[in-house]
Amino acid sequence: MDIIANFIDGQYQAPHQQQYLDNIEPATGKVYGQIPDSGDEDVELAVTAAKKALPAWRALPLETRADYLTAIAQEIERRIEELALAEAIDNGKPVSLARSVDIPRAASNFKFFAHACSQFASESHAMAGNAINYTLRQPVGVVGCISPWNLPLYLFTWKIAPALAAGNCVIAKPSEITPKTAAMLGEICQKVGLPRGVLNILHGTGANVGQAICQHEEVKAISFTGGTTTGADIAQLLAPKFKKLSLELGGKNPALIFADCDFDSTVDQVFRASFANQGQICLCASRLYIERPIYEKFKQALIAKAQALQPNDPLLDTSEMGAIVSSTHLQKVLSYVEDAKAQGGKILIGGEQVKLSGRCQEGYFLQATIIEGLANNARCNQEEIFGPLITIQPFDTDQEALALANDSDYGLAATIWTNNLGRAHFLAENINTGIVWINCWLLRDLRTPFGGMNHSGLGREGGDEAMRFFTESKNVCVKY
Ligand code: NAD
Repeated sequence: MDIIANFIDGQYQAPHQQQYLDNIEPATGKVYGQIPDSGDEDVELAVTAAKKALPAWRALPLETRADYLTAIAQEIERRIEELALAEAIDNGKPVSLARSVDIPRAASNFKFFAHACSQFASESHAMAGNAINYTLRQPVGVVGCISPWNLPLYLFTWKIAPALAAGNCVIAKPSEITPKTAAMLGEICQKVGLPRGVLNILHGTGANVGQAICQHEEVKAISFTGGTTTGADIAQLLAPKFKKLSLELGGKNPALIFADCDFDSTVDQVFRASFANQGQICLCASRLYIERPIYEKFKQALIAKAQALQPNDPLLDTSEMGAIVSSTHLQKVLSYVEDAKAQGGKILIGGEQVKLSGRCQEGYFLQATIIEGLANNARCNQEEIFGPLITIQPFDTDQEALALANDSDYGLAATIWTNNLGRAHFLAENINTGIVWINCWLLRDLRTPFGGMNHSGLGREGGDEAMRFFTESKNVCVKY
């Protein structure tokens, strides 16, 4: 049995109440470990350690802080196989995906912010012949970072790296559903000699330890990635406390596919955008709008690819589709299939749990599912499902495609597939999402603003946006 501990003040510690939660391997449906069910007392210990570490950490020369981040990145790279395997067991994602995307990108997060902190400049405003203003951007202090289960180490470090780079000390909480690689990050911090208390990692539920982190008076900012409902709860909790708050929430991402796209490459990329990580990426396309002249051909091409993508044991190197993260989540996705049927939707492929044999016979597998014939206001087109389920609809004009895409409470990411540059730029300007990809998906430059509008969140991550979030600006006006 794999028993995880909290990482507080540079050391692994059992939870104060000695209570644990089961950790289940999605591919087998079996409990394979336990994680701390932490609470207020553990948060108190972590905050005390972080406060103690803060003065020395924020006073370090930038180069020294950057050296620590670089060393963490190198250690993640050195342990890539071990971390990728742990991620695949914990989350159900194909080990090849963890090895090629999740873990390398976690290392990149630390590398990127090791450099970004030295490039982060503050402004100066001269008042002609009279005075000069300059802006100090100082660490916020002790900050909380809370992340979801879909890209466990990748999203966890996407918050921790800028927070540390900006000179803060961190209380971080991974999802209780996928705690393993976050727990391993503590060992990495020990190995590189990160000063004690600079990064503290607590495990447990949102209701207990998550809320306790958010509510603690000494935690001055919260960077949260997760569901929109949770984000709303946290926003409500924190509003009277005036804490800095960054919310990266759900999405219902449209893909606009035009008849003049490069057909084969678009099919490949849109398919990947729909089903990578079993469709459990906040940026995955889930509503496909296809221009009518290519609708049938594109649909058949997608169905053929879905047929070929069979879920399999995520630990096999050849596996391209793994397990859904939990039984509860699988049931949630399946409930949308039933809803689609009730609304007159046609299930073109998938829609049922897949039973594997052997080691994975009790695992949570679902075939790539494609549904057509639903109205745009159907639940499957409006609510985030966050699984391997997409809907497809034809459209006739650019305006219609735009209206369908914008008919959503969410606003995270959109993709546009066309060779008409004018159309692409027009749509990009008018689509209500924080991220637009044209003829590509998930191509990431870490300097760019990352996040969504409307129900997809508040604030942006990435590059200077993250460095600004994790600092307080202070204007100094000097008269001369
Ligand atoms: P979730 O909201 O259930 O949980 C996210 C994290 O918040 C977990 O660590 C959880 O323990 C914690 N939490 C839950 N309730 C809390 C509370 N009241 N106070 C403090 N912490 C609390 O989300 P999830 O199911 O883990 O993740 C899936 C969701 O995350 C999807 O909606 C997906 O779109 C979203 N997501 C968004 C992005 C983005 O960048 N916008 C990226 C990845 C995932």
